[in-house]
Amino acid sequence: MTKRYSHWVNGAEMAPANGEWRAWSDAAVGEIAVGSPEDVQRAVDAAAAALAEWRDRRPTERGRILAEIAVRLRADADRLGALEVAEGGKPNWQGPFELTWAADFFEYYAGLVNLPQGDTVDVGAGHHAFTRREPFGVVGVITPWNAPINQAARAIAPALAAGNTVVSKPSEFTSATTLEMARIATEAGLPAGVLNVVTGDRDGVGKALVAHPRVRKIAFTGSVAAGRSIARDAGERLIPVTLELGGKGANVIFADADLQAAAKDVVFAFTANAGQICFSLPRLLVADEIHDRFVDAVLAELRDVTIGESYGQTVTEAQFHKVQEYFDIARKEGATLATGGKVAETAGRYLQPTVYTDVTNDMRIAREEVFGPVLTVTRFSDEDHAVQLANDTDYGLSAGVWTSDLGRAHRLAAQLEAGTVFVNGWRAGMVEGPFGGYKDSGYGREMGTEALHHYTQTKFVVVTL
Ligand code: NAD
Repeated sequence: MTKRYSHWVNGAEMAPANGEWRAWSDAAVGEIAVGSPEDVQRAVDAAAAALAEWRDRRPTERGRILAEIAVRLRADADRLGALEVAEGGKPNWQGPFELTWAADFFEYYAGLVNLPQGDTVDVGAGHHAFTRREPFGVVGVITPWNAPINQAARAIAPALAAGNTVVSKPSEFTSATTLEMARIATEAGLPAGVLNVVTGDRDGVGKALVAHPRVRKIAFTGSVAAGRSIARDAGERLIPVTLELGGKGANVIFADADLQAAAKDVVFAFTANAGQICFSLPRLLVADEIHDRFVDAVLAELRDVTIGESYGQTVTEAQFHKVQEYFDIARKEGATLATGGKVAETAGRYLQPTVYTDVTNDMRIAREEVFGPVLTVTRFSDEDHAVQLANDTDYGLSAGVWTSDLGRAHRLAAQLEAGTVFVNGWRAGMVEGPFGGYKDSGYGREMGTEALHHYTQTKFVVVTL
């Protein structure tokens, strides 16, 4: 029988008010509760009721529970990882990787619960003045389908560490692991109502969450279009939003780089998770003098990529078709297909890793977020040209540079308009550094100590003596 997933509210399963469950895609691991504004109301009520007790706890006690959540996520990594793999069409190796990443967020923020501290402020004799870093209250966490459990953990862990309570809305296509994480959090000792999960789509749940008057901050991860809409709705209510949006990162390869290592890394950075990673680097910029040699090296590395093992399927059917539309777009725009450009022969939503050369920055294939295993290659003549091409994009989430010249590496790191710059190696799985976008890739930061500032607000207290 198909498994049914209910909402997780007030420390227990909660059936949807409308009595509807639905499998949202062919890859669904079960039927997910179809949330409605009524369910959002109940979850926000639970989060609001739990707030004072959680906020006023000694931070160390909050940290102890977050650490226990991490321990339990790791202990259950095989089962949860398999669920994440099944729901997202990921290759098997990625299950434990995503689970470790999610657990790391709880462990990391468990250690930082005491970081948000106030200052004493000298305002002259006769007063004692100080600041307090206080949580916002109920935080709405809205997440996408490409990396469900770690994206949810990335926002939930710092929000809870700072003393907020949370109502989380995962993507309707990949809700199971976020629900399981909430159950584990309750079993780890998180008080009922501190973390609630309401499943469903934008119109049933997402918009109601952003509009709810008791929700005091939104942490959103997803597309630019949805981010704009949420920023407008949140703007109407004057609540702060963290927007972690899409990307189209450039990877700049200079002739003095370790080209063998670079080619291997370039391939990983555009094929991992079938290209469905916001900070992947799908726009390759190559120095003129090594262009042909380097493209050959990338194509040679691609021969070691095994579809289904190195990388998996597109998460949704819609994404599978969207990427194929870009194959047509690239052909019509006159890009040269170096390899791929087709559905893979493996049964499922697998796409061949695809490389286009002779791509110019005015082509849609270079400008728009494809979110598939598709690499575009553009030539540059010198360092200034490389920077100009790299920055000629609406996005600004990530960028890469490969060079053995230390000075050039630092110049590029400073000049590239992106929230994260990778020098000589693309990396996923970190929790310690601030992460977020420049330009249309969003604002605010998740991860690192900086995220805690985005989950707290400052109060200035003046005591007259
Ligand atoms: P999406 O924007 O369609 O949906 C994301 C989530 O927001 C879903 O849960 C959806 O139901 C909800 N939603 C959509 N519109 C809403 C609205 N107006 N109000 C409230 N909720 C709304 O994104 P997606 O297709 O699920 O995910 C892919 C996108 O996410 C890509 O653009 C990718 O780059 C981006 N992404 C960004 C990051 C990051 O950290 N910057 C990480 C992962 C994915």
